[in-house]
Amino acid sequence: MQITRYHRCTALTIGREIIGGYDKDKISVAVIASHSALQILHGAKKEGLRTVLVTTRERLALYREFSHLIDKVIVVDKWRNICNKDAATSLRRLNSILIPHGSFVEYVGPDCAERIELPIFGLRSLVRVEASQWEKIGLLRRAGIPTPRTYSIGEEIDRIVIVKLPGAKGGKGYFIAKDGEEIAKRLSILVEQGLLKDAADAIIQEYVIGVPAYYHYFYSPLLDRVELMGADIRYETNVDGLRRLPPSLIGSADPSFVVVGNIPLVMRESLLPRILDYGRKFVKQTRRDLPPGIIGPFSLESIVTPSLEIKVFEFSGRIVAGTNLYINGSPYSWLYWDEPMSTGRRIAREIKIALEKDKLSKIVT
Ligand code: AMP
Repeated sequence: MQITRYHRCTALTIGREIIGGYDKDKISVAVIASHSALQILHGAKKEGLRTVLVTTRERLALYREFSHLIDKVIVVDKWRNICNKDAATSLRRLNSILIPHGSFVEYVGPDCAERIELPIFGLRSLVRVEASQWEKIGLLRRAGIPTPRTYSIGEEIDRIVIVKLPGAKGGKGYFIAKDGEEIAKRLSILVEQGLLKDAADAIIQEYVIGVPAYYHYFYSPLLDRVELMGADIRYETNVDGLRRLPPSLIGSADPSFVVVGNIPLVMRESLLPRILDYGRKFVKQTRRDLPPGIIGPFSLESIVTPSLEIKVFEFSGRIVAGTNLYINGSPYSWLYWDEPMSTGRRIAREIKIALEKDKLSKIVT
């Protein structure tokens, strides 16, 4: 499959223009009620910022438990309605900066991310890249970050592969295979079931044998540095459960990769230079492909092999749920800040620094 180069987002300047008209004494952080919302709200409060929660009715009960973290609630019928004029106008009146996360990417999607008339903390044009497995791997490769081999449908498969569907679905629908014909058959079933638009949208990736490790970063345009915020492992059913049984009893159970939660991880210190190097390479490539480049949190997702090669199979261009582990700071964020610093709080701290330096337009798109 040809890896296409994406076009620059025409909506790039919306957020920068809107924030110019905001009341700088009344800036608020807005988030949709899912994924890492609690961490983001908590971090904003720690930094003394106002908060707005955009939620559907079903979620209200959970967030009511944490009402001390929320100044204003906006209820929408569906997530996509955050893009409607009314919701965006209400958020602008509250001088809101929208913080995108995994549920925003998956439920709201690239069209809304590109056109929503609100300042977004992060690179809004990256949401479209994140929706395509091929675009994602293309960006990583252009950055010079080692990635697993990929195969097209019909190409001879010479090793175990993992077949992944587009989007940020938390591993749903992925499968392991070894045989090209079987892959084509399973993909066409997914298309028939409406779970996949086109079989070519799925990516067939070498299944790298090793251990998974996800790195959380924060790029600060104001301090011009990449900070390592933490690392985690995802706890996935049932691939992480199968090892509890002897192989002779597993029979035909297929491993699946549906995320249930996250487990903390600290990296061997000798791996840190490479992990930071890949983070910096990623930042540079987003600047080349999609100026002004990434702003704030992102994650590289890897398998580390027995020869300590790090193969990055995915990225997330915004806060990842694994950062929820470190609401009171991680072993790395302590080193930079010497105070409890979650990724949610780090976002709010960047907003505070931007307010102090009168540089809010540098941290939004
Ligand atoms: P993803 O949605 O791409 O983050 O992948 C979900 C899970 O599939 C990961 O947490 C890994 O356990 C596994 N995985 C994804 N890609 C690979 C790969 N190329 N090799 C081995 N495991 C993988």
